[in-house]
Amino acid sequence: MDVTADTLPRSSDPALRPVAIGMGSNLGPRVDRLRGAADRLTDGPLVDARFSRVYETVPACGLDQPLYLNACCTGWTSLDAVDLLATLKDLESKAGRDPSAPRFASRPLDLDILLYGDDVVATPHLTIPHPALPERAFVLVPLAEIAGGWRHPVLGRTIAELAAGVGAAGVEVTNLRLREADES
Ligand code: AMP
Repeated sequence: MDVTADTLPRSSDPALRPVAIGMGSNLGPRVDRLRGAADRLTDGPLVDARFSRVYETVPACGLDQPLYLNACCTGWTSLDAVDLLATLKDLESKAGRDPSAPRFASRPLDLDILLYGDDVVATPHLTIPHPALPERAFVLVPLAEIAGGWRHPVLGRTIAELAAGVGAAGVEVTNLRLREADES
């Protein structure tokens, strides 16, 4: 199934797979962390990367934490999902994330695989589509900007439909961009 034809510019290389990644930071120089990750993703695992605008968002589940900056990106990768996750974890760690911190603690950088083509993965260390994707406005709103037509392979609904369903409470667009090329 060609889940992304109406969403992402096609890659000319049939070996590449489309991927959507969620990005967040609520500790330290937040936008610098996100921009650093955007540069590393563009220089490394992603081809034809596109980035959403940056949103300032209220921490989920009523957590008493600093506000987050969130964005999403899409692109094409030659890495399989397990190797892509390892690359994202390495970027988090280089941004100063403490791997022993509690699961929902504030973090300088959070990178999640949201979608990987129309693959469905359920292993102890990797779940794709990301299990929280359908309920997280701070992910769906930015992702809908760049991949609104991408159909969730389990729910059968597009990202735009899922985003419309959750609304945008607590998700404020900023005028920040992750790459100069994306400045409006
Ligand atoms: P997080 O707190 O969001 O950084 O995620 C912690 C752990 O969730 C990671 O170390 C992964 O092993 C696991 N995980 C499972 N599915 C995913 C996914 N789709 N993207 C990122 N991490 C995932």
